[in-house]
Amino acid sequence: MSIAIQLPWNTVHRTPTMPNPGDRVLELVDVGVSIGERRILDGVNLDVRAGEVLSLVGPNGAGKSTLLNAITGDVPLSDGEITLFGLPALSWDATELAMRRSVLLQSVDVTFPFSVDDIVRMGRSPWEGTAEEMDDDMIVESAMTMTEVMPLADRVYTSLSGGERGRAAFSRVLAQAAPILLLDEPTAAMDIKHQEMLMRIGREYAAAGCAVVVIVHALDAAAAWSDRVALLEHGRLRAVGTPEEVFTSTMLSDVYQCPIEVLPHPGGGLIILPKRPAITRHVYGEHHGFPDAARANLARLSGLSGQGVS
Ligand code: ADP
Ligand code: MG
Repeated sequence: MSIAIQLPWNTVHRTPTMPNPGDRVLELVDVGVSIGERRILDGVNLDVRAGEVLSLVGPNGAGKSTLLNAITGDVPLSDGEITLFGLPALSWDATELAMRRSVLLQSVDVTFPFSVDDIVRMGRSPWEGTAEEMDDDMIVESAMTMTEVMPLADRVYTSLSGGERGRAAFSRVLAQAAPILLLDEPTAAMDIKHQEMLMRIGREYAAAGCAVVVIVHALDAAAAWSDRVALLEHGRLRAVGTPEEVFTSTMLSDVYQCPIEVLPHPGGGLIILPKRPAITRHVYGEHHGFPDAARANLARLSGLSGQGVS
């Protein structure tokens, strides 16, 4: 559902200018969302500045996606106000919004057999009919190169692995070339290399003057790559600040209801780990290679206690 204003096709849209570092590009004032009887978000105050990476973290069900969807206008507010570039979010039309913020949703249903190239090009649609359109090919190529999806360009999007889809969807977000990036668990299906790649690109965009809001579960990645982190708990912002301020053992253990250790990394930054019990590790067989393990397994399965299996 989109509640942005739809204007006739020939309306001249207000194109954005790149904000200056530190400009408040997004402001949430006392934002509340209720769905039916349920209070999903309550009293959320947050501002986001050009030039920063802000990671939004919190347990499952805390309201992170709802908060992002409220910012995009896909979830109506029950209370409060959201401003984008100093104006109420709803005063921008859909194209003007798309020129200002690009969004990667947690789940996207694609049923038509679009190629990866098609998907990335969709990011350019807000710029159709503007001077920016001339750069479409260059921008699409650069977005695909940065996210390492060039080799996948002709593949059907739905045939990709989860992590590959994540990269293609992120590539589409970059191709949109908007100064605010809103990313809902973009790294969820990515391997560690691509998770780090995505966060590094987020930082590069922030360094170029964009504002990046990213929902992540990997607390160590959030700590390493973010200027600030916002910790959401039961629909309320429990803490906002630098990773060192927010990610304390006491705070994280309390919010996640799970004992969590936070240690300084010798090279700077934080190591964040669940406190785990010592385990007794069993490694069967004299040799640890596959053939011995397979033989032991076969023996157990066949009930032969090793006899007859060599
Ligand atoms: P998160 O992204 O932090 O895991 P969500 O924002 O998706 O959490 O959801 C927050 C809470 O709101 C959850 O308890 C979820 O079940 C509930 N919720 C989200 N959308 C709806 C909806 N449309 N109807 C009812 N409850 C919803
Ligand atoms: Mg979510």
